[in-house]
This record gives sequence, C-alpha cells and structure tokens, in this order.
Amino acid sequence: PAAAAPARFATPADALRTVYGYESFRGDQAEIIDQVVSGGDAVVLMPTGGGKSVCYQIPALVREGTGLVVSPLIALMHDQVDALRANGVNAAYLNSTQSAAERADVERAYLAGELDLVYVAPERLSSPATTRLLQRGALSVIAIDEAHCVSQWGHDFRPDYLALGDLGERFPGVPRMALTATATRATHKELTERLHLDGPGGTPAAKHFVASFDRPNIQYRIVPKVDPRKQLVSFIRSMPEGAAGIVYALSRKSVEQTATYLAAQGFDALPYHAGLPAEVRAANQARFLREGGVVMVATIAFGMGIDKPDVRFVAHIDLPKSVEGYYQETGRAGRDGEPSVAWMAYGLGDVVQQRRLIDQSPGDRTFKMRMGQHLDAMLALCETVECRRQNLLNYFGQESGPCGNCDTCLEKPDTFDGLVPAQKLLSTIVRLKRERNQAFGAGHLIDILRGSSNDRIRQQKHDGLATYGIGTDLSDQDWRSVVRQLLARGILVAQGDYGTLAPGEAAGGVLKGETPVPLRKDTMGRVSGGGRARK
Ligand code: ADP
Ligand code: ZN
Repeated sequence: PAAAAPARFATPADALRTVYGYESFRGDQAEIIDQVVSGGDAVVLMPTGGGKSVCYQIPALVREGTGLVVSPLIALMHDQVDALRANGVNAAYLNSTQSAAERADVERAYLAGELDLVYVAPERLSSPATTRLLQRGALSVIAIDEAHCVSQWGHDFRPDYLALGDLGERFPGVPRMALTATATRATHKELTERLHLDGPGGTPAAKHFVASFDRPNIQYRIVPKVDPRKQLVSFIRSMPEGAAGIVYALSRKSVEQTATYLAAQGFDALPYHAGLPAEVRAANQARFLREGGVVMVATIAFGMGIDKPDVRFVAHIDLPKSVEGYYQETGRAGRDGEPSVAWMAYGLGDVVQQRRLIDQSPGDRTFKMRMGQHLDAMLALCETVECRRQNLLNYFGQESGPCGNCDTCLEKPDTFDGLVPAQKLLSTIVRLKRERNQAFGAGHLIDILRGSSNDRIRQQKHDGLATYGIGTDLSDQDWRSVVRQLLARGILVAQGDYGTLAPGEAAGGVLKGETPVPLRKDTMGRVSGGGRARK
C-alpha cells in the first residue's frame, strides 16, 4: 500500500526560512499559501519574478502528501528540481525525456511517500495510467503553472491544458491552484472557467489573487525605426558603462547579424537562438549570467527561467507578436528593482512582415484572426500618444494614471490634428456600406482615398464614389499609420476573417467633429502637419 509523504514543516514561515532562507513573505504570498494550506483553491496572477514558485512549493511542504506541479516547460523542470534538491526538498519530475527506468524510479518514490513535489508535463496527465498512479498515492496540492496556456485566445495556447479541467474530479479534496504571469481580463476569466475554478456544482469557488503588474523601475521607450542598428548602438551607449542587457530579434539570421555588428562596435555581444549547438548556447548563457556587461542578442527562445537580477535593459529590434510577449520579455529587466529600460524600435516593415507571417501560417481562420488581434494590441501600444505604462496595465485589466517614467510621459509626442483624415476614411466606409452594402480592408479603402486606378477600383466602379481621390495629401504609408492609430483608439474596428474596417464605438463623435483626433506624427511616413498636398 502507498504511503503519503509526511508534512515537512509545521508552518509556512518555517519552510520559507529553512528552505529558501527568506525572513518574510512578499506581496500576497502569505495569504495565497494560507488559502491553499487550509484546503481552498486559488487563482494567482503575479508578474514574472513576483515569487509564484514559493506559493505552491510551501503548501506542498506544509501539507501531508506530494505536491503535483503541472508545467509545460520541460527544459525548466530539470533546473527547478535540481535547485529544490540542493535546498533539501525531495523533488522529481516525470516527462518524456526520461528513460523507462528513471520514470519507474520516480513512480516508486512517489508511492512510497518519499516525494515532497513532483513536476509533470501536461501531456503526461492526459494519460489514464498517470492518473491511476497519482490516485494510488497521496497529493497535497495541485499547481497548474503557466495557466494562461489553457486559453484559446491567449498567445500561448497548449491543447494539453484543456484536459486539466477535470483534475478536481480526478483528485477530490486536493486543493488546486492556477498560476500565471500573463493574463488579460479575458484570459483570467477563461482560465478560471476552463480549469473549473469557478465553483462548478455549488463547490466553493477559488479565491483570486491579482498582484500589480506594474514594474515601476522599468522605463518604457518605443521609437520609430529609421536605422535600427545605429539606433540600437546609440541606445546601448546611453546606458551606464558595463550594463548587461538582452536584445531580442525575431529571426536567427537577424540575431547573428546584430551580434556580429555589436561586437564590431566594441560591445561584449553574444548570440543565442535555437539553431546554435547546445554547447554554444550553454556557454553563452553561462557568460551572460556570470559576467557583467554581456549583451545577449537572442530570439525569444532565450530568457524563460533566466533569473539574472541585474539586467539593465531589454531592447526589441523587431516588433513582438503580442503585448503578453512584450511584457514577459521586458519583464526580464530590472528584477533587482534598480532603474532599467525597455527599449524598442518599430516600423511599418515590422507590421507588414508580421501580417504576412500570420497570413502564411498554417493556422485556421480563427487562429489568424486571433493573431491579428494580438498584433493590433501591440500596435496600439506603439502608437499611443498617452502613457505607455497606462496602456500596458490597462491591457492586463489594471487601472492607472500616467506614470511619468515612459517616453510619452517624459516628452509628449508630436501630434497633428487627424480629424479630417479620420472623417474622410469613416465617410468612405459608411458610404460603401449604405450605398452598396460593401465592406473592405485598409488596402482597398486607401486606394479609393488616394484615387488609385487599379483593376479592383475599376471593376467595382469605385472611381465614381464621392470620396474617391479626396486623400491624396497623405501617402499610402501615412494612411496606414492613420488606420492603425484609429484602430488603436476604437474609432475603427477590424472585422471578420479579412479584417474589413467598420466604424468603432468612438466613431460617432469623430463624424460629428466633436472628438479631437490627435495622431502621432513620428509613426507616419513623413506626414505634413498642415495637410499640404504632395505626390
Ligand atoms: P516567478 O515564478 O513568479 O517568476 P519565482 O518564484 O521564480 O518568481 O521568484 C523570483 C525570485 O524571487 C526568486 O529568486 C525567489 O527566490 C525570490 N523570492 C520569492 N519569494 C521571496 C520572498 N518572500 N522574499 C525574498 N525573495 C523571494
Ligand atoms: Zn508613462
């Protein structure tokens, strides 16, 4: 017969002191742990570096039985388990990288009540054999890490997470926790429902703990891309001498080229991406962690689980695919609380490239639409004339005022009056709908406004519209920036699989001329403030 692992500590505070060497809990940690130790469920939203691990590890040490941790990051399991063992915790993992003998060993230890914690990959849990094994032993708590992965609308959906909804039924009486560092309002609601933490069938609902997502020591700066390499170099030179930082690029090629370029400029720059041999990656990562002043040029493959407190800057030379990704990546700066900078250069080329990647991706229409929405939210952050931090926090469902520590707060961006272009665009959309019951995406609408003559215009007889050719004062690129900015403010909405444009909630006031529409100048091609005509 199986045995339950004994409780290792009498109180959470004992565990915190003995295992981790900390004197006091941070933020909501103590309350979260109390909730779970007393048998309740919890949903924990806490930014990266906030201290989520302690929240599920300590209940596992204080309650009788083994703590089950569901984690999608197999690469990290090994490190976490090693770190726990080094601190005297009996931890192990079950995943696909193990041999049958290794797995059998862990299973035996579990049933003998020798394990405080066992980490499993989500796909393991969908196997009935694993469920039966875990049921024969005794669990103290079930922690679902990276819980946002259950959200089909999130940026990181993993189908295996959908099967985690019935863990409450499979393991009755075992408290459950869902933890994540990236959840918008919508994702928060969705993960609560999908993981059955909303009290189905009259059971007590989970308690929710939402920590502030603000990272006040990080200064956000986003600049229009002109000459990205030169801009990057002058940005890094503006940092204190010997500052360690991460430069994120989208492609392996761009990582290699940028690292080479920075090295030629005298920086201690190293590349990191999944295409490099494992030993090169390990060596570069080790240098970044150990030495001061290394600039790691990397794809997003770099950073998960990297706990380097004194990263002074994170730079993006390509547009991240989502605000969640941006927040997670920039969050690797300044974990020590010292002033740090999140810098990004972005341009129209990024937007075009990402739209193409989305179009060419193998996903279905829903998937593409979702990716498009993530991109739009990212663009809204780039093009806002308001506080960046406010925009970012609002995205994660947190209200705040202007921060005074981002580029738009420190220096109000140059704006021009976009009321007339907005009205021209809206009236074209409204007329097409009213007169012909048609709707189009940005490209075709801009062609109409700029009086372009192409097959589609001629076939549709759109050269006969009253608004045909009334927007020649702006270039194609300028118009695209106008569209993005209007989308970002809810004056326009993109609908359906093809992203056809329609008036948004805020369109009424614009059509009546009541709502001012200040638009950023710097994100446009070379817009002329007064609307001077040019070819
Ligand atoms: P997360 O999983 O939320 O990103 P971690 O659990 O990895 O964060 O914790 C981040 C860092 O904070 C770790 O180095 C951890 O040891 C440390 N930490 C956690 N709780 C405390 C605490 N109460 N006091 C001091 N440091 C803590
Ligand atoms: Zn601000």
